[in-house]
Amino acid sequence: MKQKRVKGWILVGVKFSTMLVALSIISCSSPGTNKEVTVTSPPETTIVTSPSVTNKITVTVPSTETPPETVTPGTLVASDWWKLTGSLYLLTSQGTSGSGNYLQSVGVKAGLLGGGMYYIFSRLSTYWSGIQQANTIILFNASAESVMNISDWPTQYREVCPFTTEELTGINLPFALLKRDNNGLIRAIVVATSDGELTSFLSVMKDQQVPVNVAWTLSYSIIAAGKGGVTALNKKIEISDTNFCVAYPEGYDTDASNMLTWANQVAGKLQNWFPDLFVVIGSRLTIEIASTGDPSHASADPTRPSISFVAPSVAAKASSYYDADWYAGNIAHEIGHVILDRYRKLFGGYQRADCPNWFDEGFGEYLRLLVIGEQKFNEKYGRYKSEIPAIIANGTSGISDVYAGGAWVLRFMGAAFGTKTVIAVTTSTQGTFWGAVTEKTNLTQAQFEEQLKLWLKTIPP
Ligand SMILES: [Zn+2]
Repeated sequence: MKQKRVKGWILVGVKFSTMLVALSIISCSSPGTNKEVTVTSPPETTIVTSPSVTNKITVTVPSTETPPETVTPGTLVASDWWKLTGSLYLLTSQGTSGSGNYLQSVGVKAGLLGGGMYYIFSRLSTYWSGIQQANTIILFNASAESVMNISDWPTQYREVCPFTTEELTGINLPFALLKRDNNGLIRAIVVATSDGELTSFLSVMKDQQVPVNVAWTLSYSIIAAGKGGVTALNKKIEISDTNFCVAYPEGYDTDASNMLTWANQVAGKLQNWFPDLFVVIGSRLTIEIASTGDPSHASADPTRPSISFVAPSVAAKASSYYDADWYAGNIAHEIGHVILDRYRKLFGGYQRADCPNWFDEGFGEYLRLLVIGEQKFNEKYGRYKSEIPAIIANGTSGISDVYAGGAWVLRFMGAAFGTKTVIAVTTSTQGTFWGAVTEKTNLTQAQFEEQLKLWLKTIPP
C-alpha cells in the first residue's frame, strides 16, 4: 500500500541571526475595492490561565502511516506557555483574508480588525476597549505588506504591539512571538510569507501549548512540491530609460513596456508641478512588476526607491477596472509617497510618519487627480462621495477611508489655496503637520476644518 504523507508540525527554536529579510518596503494598499476590511465584535472574556509547564519540544503526532520525521528541531526552552483561549482579537495586515477568517471557520470566536496596518491605526481608538481587554494576535503577511509599517504603530496603543522592528526583522520568517502583559494577556505577532502559513500558526495555537517570550516557528513534514505558483527563483528582467527601470518576470515584456510608457507620461505631467521630480527622487525609480497578487495592491519604497504593481495584463483579467487610467493614476499615487517621504527628510521638521494617514494617502490621490484629470477621477472614484457626510459632521477626525477622505481634504486644499500651497505644506520646515498647514494657509486647524466643511457642502451629491 502506498504510504500517505500527512502534514504535521513541529515547533522548533528560531535562529535569531543571519538571514537578511528584505523588509524595507513601505507598502500601502491602493484604493481598488475596499474588500479587506472586516470588523466583528469580540467574544465574552474568559479567564486566561497561564500554564506553568516547562517542556522542551512539542510535536504534533502525525498520522500513523507517516514515516518518522527527519527534521532536527532547534532547542526550544520556555518557562511560559499559552494555548489559544479566552477573549481574542486578531489584528491583520494586508493579504490575510484566509487566516483572518480561519478561526471563525473552526468555531473559535475572535474579534477582527484589519486588512492593513494603516487601517488598524486609524480604527484602534474606536475598538480600543475591546482590543485592550482581549488577548491579541497580529497576523502579518510580509509578502503583502512591509513589516516596517509596524514602526508607525501609534504610541498610545503600543501595549498591544510591544515589538520593535529591529526585533521583528532580526528573526527568520515565518515565526511567532508571544509576550504577556502585566494583566496576563497575550500580545502576540505572527509574521509569515503567506496567508496559508499564518493559518498554520493559528491552527497550532488552537490545538496545543506554544511558548511565550521565545520566538518559534513551524517545521513542516515533507510533502510533494507544488508547481506553477510563485517560485523563489523567478528571474526578473529589466528594461530602463533615463528615469525609470522596470523589473519584470519572464513573459511580461508587453506589461513592462506599457508601464515604462505610462510612467514617463505620468512623470511628464507631474513635472509641471514638480520640475525637480527626479532630483527629489534622487535616482532612477524602479518599477517592480509581479505576475501574481491582488491587483488593487500597489506599494512604494521611498528608500530604494521603487514602486510595485501587479502586471497590467494580470489585473485586466481580474477586472476591466484596472485599465491604463487606473495604472497611470496609481503610478502617480505611489510616486506621491516617494515625493512626500523625500521632501520631509529633505526639509526636516515633521516627518511622513507624523502626517495623518489621510494626508499621506490623500497626497497620492491628489497627484492621481493632477495626472488623470478631474473628470476621469470623478468617474473612477465616484464612491469617494460616501465619505463626505462624515467629514461635514466631524471634520478630518470623521475620516474612516483615508483614501477617499484624504482625496477630499486635498481637493479642498487645492481648490481653496492652489496646488502650490498643497506642495508648500509638504516642503514646510514646521515641526508638526498642522503647523505646516497653518503656516501655508493662514488658518488654524479649527478654521481649516470649518472651511473644509463649507466647501464639501457645495459638492453635489
Ligand atoms: Zn498609498
